[in-house]
Amino acid sequence: MVISGGIKLKNLFNFVSFFSININASCFRIIEIAEWCKRVNLKSNLGNDISIGKVHELLQNVFYLGLMKYKGEIHEATHEPLISKKLFDRVQEIMREKGKPQKVKKHNFDFLGLMKCPCSAAITAEKKIKPSGKEYIYYRCTKKKGPCQEKHFLRGEELYPQIKSFLQKVSLSSYDTEMVLAKLEKEESRAKEQAKTTAQDLKTEFAVNEQKLEKLLDVYLAETITAEEYTSRKEKLVKQKVGLKEQIEDFEQKGLSWLEPAREFVLSLNQAAKLLESENKTEMTTFLKNIGSNCILQNRQLIFSPRKPYDLAAERSEAASKSLRFSKMWT
Ligand SMILES: [Zn+2]
Repeated sequence: MVISGGIKLKNLFNFVSFFSININASCFRIIEIAEWCKRVNLKSNLGNDISIGKVHELLQNVFYLGLMKYKGEIHEATHEPLISKKLFDRVQEIMREKGKPQKVKKHNFDFLGLMKCPCSAAITAEKKIKPSGKEYIYYRCTKKKGPCQEKHFLRGEELYPQIKSFLQKVSLSSYDTEMVLAKLEKEESRAKEQAKTTAQDLKTEFAVNEQKLEKLLDVYLAETITAEEYTSRKEKLVKQKVGLKEQIEDFEQKGLSWLEPAREFVLSLNQAAKLLESENKTEMTTFLKNIGSNCILQNRQLIFSPRKPYDLAAERSEAASKSLRFSKMWT
């Protein structure tokens, strides 16, 4: 059985996972996901656009995990799982974070919380009004970590081009993104065909799990446990079984583990391109925090140290899809 829009759905999960998009907390982000679906032409089973309300349902659907929910009970289905349990769990975790209150912003200055001074204190911003009446935003050290050598202030309009120039270095156009994703998909099916070896001990464990499931049904039929207990224990065992199945598959497809991070990486490069178009400074800050390990403001220069593998992308003046060797980055 083939799930329609399978590749796109898979990418959707990767997309959410990478950006830790908390869809419950912010309406803007649900809109962003819905827009993403529209852009890649991901449709519902009835051929409609994915509505904002549908996004949630989509991301929680155990069907993509190779399971079926019937009358409140989870069953194994015969179709092949579309996404890994690892990825599914991560997305569920992101969605569960809805209860956490969002930090209230104390200020309205862009890019705060991103940069540090060489003295390790945070960078803050303040507004100054010149005698002419013109307003300027200045970025400077908070000097909260003792004496500081940094004497310079940086004007907001000098900071923004530096941020944009970095985003430019790690951006990938939507067209190239779709091309790379299609290539990765091909690579995946090729590697899957090649690898068909079995991990015997995992399979034994799998068989034990099967026996447990059978035994559970026996005790249920003998009425020694309640229907409620049966359902909850069964759910646990079925989920365990899926986990084991996945481990077996992982073993059989050794060398494929780089694919999911590769997809996330490509999608994030595309996000940088989209941020440059939208000029959403709040999202830019979040993005740079996500991909950077250090961001220092020294002598009016932004020194940004990207995490792996963004350092590789940034080293190139422009991230060109054709020559990036994704498999090499994760091995
Ligand atoms: Zn300082």
